Amino acid sequence: MLPLGVSTHYDIIFTGGGAAALSLAYRGMQSGIFANKQLLIIEPSAKTSNDKTWCFWEEQAGPFEDILFKRWAHMKVYGNNGREIVLQPGSFEYKMIRSIDFYEHTLNYLKQQTNITFLQASVDEINANKVGKAVAHAEGVGYSADTIFNSIFKKPHLQSDQNYFIQHFLGEIIQLPANNHIDPEAIHLMDFRTSQEHGTAFFYVLPLHNNQVLVEYTLFTKQVLDRTAYKTAIKAFIQEHLMVSDYEVLEEEYGEIPMTDFPFQRFDGRVVNIGSAGGDTRGSSGYTFSNIQRTVSAILQAYRKTGQPVFQKPTISKKHQLYDKTLLRVLNNNQYQGHEMFTDLFTKAPAHKVFRFLDGTSTLIEDTAIMTSLKSKHFIFPFINSI
Ligand SMILES: Cc1cc2nc3c(=O)[nH]c(=O)nc-3n(C[C@H](O)[C@H](O)[C@H](O)COP(=O)(O)OP(=O)(O)OC[C@H]3O[C@@H](n4cnc5c(N)ncnc54)[C@H](O)[C@@H]3O)c2cc1C
Repeated sequence: MLPLGVSTHYDIIFTGGGAAALSLAYRGMQSGIFANKQLLIIEPSAKTSNDKTWCFWEEQAGPFEDILFKRWAHMKVYGNNGREIVLQPGSFEYKMIRSIDFYEHTLNYLKQQTNITFLQASVDEINANKVGKAVAHAEGVGYSADTIFNSIFKKPHLQSDQNYFIQHFLGEIIQLPANNHIDPEAIHLMDFRTSQEHGTAFFYVLPLHNNQVLVEYTLFTKQVLDRTAYKTAIKAFIQEHLMVSDYEVLEEEYGEIPMTDFPFQRFDGRVVNIGSAGGDTRGSSGYTFSNIQRTVSAILQAYRKTGQPVFQKPTISKKHQLYDKTLLRVLNNNQYQGHEMFTDLFTKAPAHKVFRFLDGTSTLIEDTAIMTSLKSKHFIFPFINSI
């Protein structure tokens, strides 16, 4: 901890110390790239609660394999009409990390490093380029650095042709009686067996350990709901589709993730925006955790090659940003409803191709296969207008 009023120059400052900052600091230290640098992490939260559950699909072992809470190789999607689609994920697995395990794992290691200072405070302002350095102001003190990695997300000011949906959800971890009928090895990636009156809405069901299940009610809309509306929907879904009425709620998670085609700025003077603030959240799905790891890899590679964090290739390619913009426009004009679109996608294209598409690693031929699995008449004009 820093004594009050002291301002020092650092090689690197992290404004915000969540998923992106801790991934970068941890992987930068582990790889030795930050070994001779002085680091400051400014974050108001002590990170002692399990505030998020991060899930993502992956083919290979990832950088946080040791702290995976669970992994699944079997996945299903249910259409709004009740039809079950068993996915073909190929060698992809769906993986889950609890944020508390991630915070403990990264912070236990980072707090042992003598070149890292932690400041529990809130950043009020960042100057991206002040006479050859960047400055973060926190609680009346300015902290300067050669580079600031910023992950403080602010809702952007949108142009009239830009879309902004909120992916909002409430999840409950429930304890089921031992004689339940839920397949412990298969997740419901998107289960649309619910009313679509508010917009695209689905359940996400992850069987955990010891008859515990995470059931999350998720919507892609422009307004969030009243808290009781999520709980009522979850209760009805559990009774109707998981066929359980006797259960205990152990934990609750509420979240909002931006789904937008706003072009977030990665580099701004000596500031590098990372995480959702740097555009690592996929506009069409809200998935972020894997993109954060790709951005971290690109930053570390750039440091290795040039001594600077600047990299050229966008984490989400321009082509995939264009697809996201198109999809958000289709959602916006609502002629092809979200539930129909995602059900068509998973019915007609194998999940491993969809995952590559959503990861932004698909080829043009795979993209075409994905596009033709959807009702193209709804896509043509939004696509042309997005170019
Ligand atoms: C509940 C929830 C569940 C999610 N689940 C998934 C998932 O399953 N899969 C997936 O891919 N993505 C998921 N996401 C999206 C995304 O992965 C997370 O939001 C992720 O935490 C983004 O990382 P980040 O570093 O950009 O933001 P954060 O992890 O939120 O880190 C930003 C940090 O900045 C700090 N901060 C804010 N204001 C200030 C300030 N003024 N000064 C200093 N610090 C400040 C915050 O306290 C926070 O710690 C989820 C998001 C939420 C909210």
